[in-house]
Amino acid sequence: MDTTTFLKKNIGGVAQVEPGLTPPPASSNPTTFAKKPGLGASKSKKKDIPEGLWTKCPSCEAMIFDKELDENLQVCPKCERHFPIGSRERIHSLVETCTFEEMDAQMASVDVLQFKGVATYKSKLDAYKKKSTLKDAVVTGIGKMGQHTVALGVMDFGFLGGSMGSVVGEKLTRLIERGTEGGWPVIIISTSGGARMYEGMFSLMQMAKTSAALAYHAQNRLPYISVLVNPDYAGVMASYASLGDLILAEPKAMIGFAGPRVIKDTTQAELPPGFQTSEFLLEHGLIDAIVHRKEMKAQLITYLDYFASGRTPGK
Ligand SMILES: [Zn+2]
Repeated sequence: MDTTTFLKKNIGGVAQVEPGLTPPPASSNPTTFAKKPGLGASKSKKKDIPEGLWTKCPSCEAMIFDKELDENLQVCPKCERHFPIGSRERIHSLVETCTFEEMDAQMASVDVLQFKGVATYKSKLDAYKKKSTLKDAVVTGIGKMGQHTVALGVMDFGFLGGSMGSVVGEKLTRLIERGTEGGWPVIIISTSGGARMYEGMFSLMQMAKTSAALAYHAQNRLPYISVLVNPDYAGVMASYASLGDLILAEPKAMIGFAGPRVIKDTTQAELPPGFQTSEFLLEHGLIDAIVHRKEMKAQLITYLDYFASGRTPGK
């Protein structure tokens, strides 16, 4: 008797207990999970910026009128710091007006493992869906850039730290496969803290799946451009983000596999100045070019023109 009531409470309790847990998000809770500093740190930084009409730039401390920041694609007009930008805003800044057809817009994550930590996965998903009006951390679709039809995927750090779960992996894989079928270039703009640990092995499998789809795309001699945006780490960097025929990055983006603190602790060595920034990685050969957000569209079109030259029209 006792066991059944306990179980019932446990199963039913998932949904009921969460709402109480959700309002004060986990960041203030210094329990077992406080050791995930990468994402937490950037979240709390965001909170320091006063909300309203003005934003204080954390780099140059200038007060920027929010409208000016919006018009400037979330780039500080004084010091060129690139603030995070939502996936929809970014798509808008890249594709020709009204040409973007979103794919799999309704695909949403399922809590397969019934993950329970400080908060349950389901409650996290619900909270982020409400906050961001997104279903998951990537928006994919087909659009036009200049004369070119492209398969475009844009990740959103605002949704669970841009973490890559089954939905992110599946949406990107479908996007790449659609690109292969259509004979179109694939462009993925990635920003992520890495694989989504709430989905355990399921999230790690996305690394292989997306990479395999990109390999087929390459076999068809079709280009893939990867654009790295601050921050870009772990499982995403270890799979599709670093597989581009061309790898671009925004200025001063932090890019790597493990975070600098983990590397420093593990190797017990001093890290060189500028470690894991796009500038450092350009110098060391991982990145082909650093492109300012305002010039990204024009630059991508130049590269697409180059890739398309020598191809038969329409391909
Ligand atoms: Zn600034």
